[in-house]
Amino acid sequence: MQKISIIGAGYVGLVTAASFASLGFSVVCADIDRKKVEKINRKEPPIYEENLQELLKKLVPKNLSATTKLKSAVLGSGATFICVGTPSQGNGMIYLEAVRNASRELGLALKEKKTGHLIIVKSTVVPETTENVIIPEIEKFSEKRFGRDFGVVVNPEFLREGTALADFLSPDRIVLGSTDARSIRAARNLYSWAECPIVECSFREAEMAKYASNAFLATKISFINDIGNICKKLSIDTNKIAYIMGLDSRIGKNFLKAGIGFGGSCLPKDLRAIIQKAEEKDYSPELLSSVLEVNMKQPSKLIEMLDSRGMLSRKMRVGILGLTFKANTDDIRESPSLEVIRLLTLRGVQICAYDPKGMDAAKRIFPKIRYKRSAQQVADKSDVILILTEWAEFKKVNFRGKQVIDGKNLFGEGERPGNYEGLCW
Ligand code: NAD
Repeated sequence: MQKISIIGAGYVGLVTAASFASLGFSVVCADIDRKKVEKINRKEPPIYEENLQELLKKLVPKNLSATTKLKSAVLGSGATFICVGTPSQGNGMIYLEAVRNASRELGLALKEKKTGHLIIVKSTVVPETTENVIIPEIEKFSEKRFGRDFGVVVNPEFLREGTALADFLSPDRIVLGSTDARSIRAARNLYSWAECPIVECSFREAEMAKYASNAFLATKISFINDIGNICKKLSIDTNKIAYIMGLDSRIGKNFLKAGIGFGGSCLPKDLRAIIQKAEEKDYSPELLSSVLEVNMKQPSKLIEMLDSRGMLSRKMRVGILGLTFKANTDDIRESPSLEVIRLLTLRGVQICAYDPKGMDAAKRIFPKIRYKRSAQQVADKSDVILILTEWAEFKKVNFRGKQVIDGKNLFGEGERPGNYEGLCW
């Protein structure tokens, strides 16, 4: 049985771990978060992701386990995936502390290892990071040499939260970036189960491919939101325009969804990071900056809409349906819903909210707003209801003729409640 270790058991790390374990690999996750580690070993997923619970029940402890002891995890495996977070710093640049710490610990473990080792960088890092930070740190602390004593491959991850396991196990492509042919061969071996194209390239190309892909997806969303804001002023249904455009095979229908804007732990952070990296190289990517700007303004379009309809007085009760940045995840990082709540609290309206998976995390950010036990309770206790995540269960709510404003195009044309308006349609 091939043995692998995974540093960082978050959305990407745990999904990578469970996927490889389900393919018959023996996998150990190493994380500094003791609670997360204990949960995994109790077969309880620390995050919500479809089918993850069932997989942990099946795989832990036989094929999958977790530990806080990174060194033993690395020493007991032939390959290690780095899956730690790379959050934004204040200036937009990624914060590399977790990557540096993981590289240092990995290096210290490799110092004791008698055989070779493959390191696979899955964390999203800007071009030059693997060459200038990860490899030098590992070399320094292991006192070994890349290409001779250990291998490194950059293997960006393209999974989507909400369908992460299915995405991981049926990828569109696998990117393997390295200057070392032996490392690429070893990484190809780990992915021999995959049926998609495997693209070999340099470290920087692999790093850039991830940013370019996310920047393109974000651009598509901000593009249709820009069009949507024009359509709204002209009483045109943007969804129909997106449908017509999407039938053109050169354009494609995916990510042409107008509404409240993109959020999550990847698109906004990755855009900021690549803009920063470009500026470090004396280039200002104006298109990408505009993509961010359009996105940042989208929640305030909703507030303007409420304001123009007299729905922001202090006695107004505003109900929020949806806190996560998308459906089928518990992730609220950079969710547009949070920005809407922040803007509403500035106006002093009464707010209540419900989300099937995101309430615990939201309570830590907005402890003072009221949280309800169901979407129906939010509808019953509000004068106007805002749909900010496309959870399917919101379709079953009886809105009793109250004003519904949809930021996610949850309702198709034939299924819209009576008093309904879309943000861009
Ligand atoms: P996350 O915050 O959910 O998980 C990161 C984990 O790393 C946490 O559990 C944390 O405790 C752990 N960690 C931090 N420092 C550590 C250390 N020194 N040793 C061991 N563990 C450590 O992050 P995520 O969403 O899984 O993202 C991880 C990376 O993958 C990021 O670079 C992200 O941009 C990228 N990515 C994320 C997604 C996504 O949908 N979430 C998709 C593709 C790529």
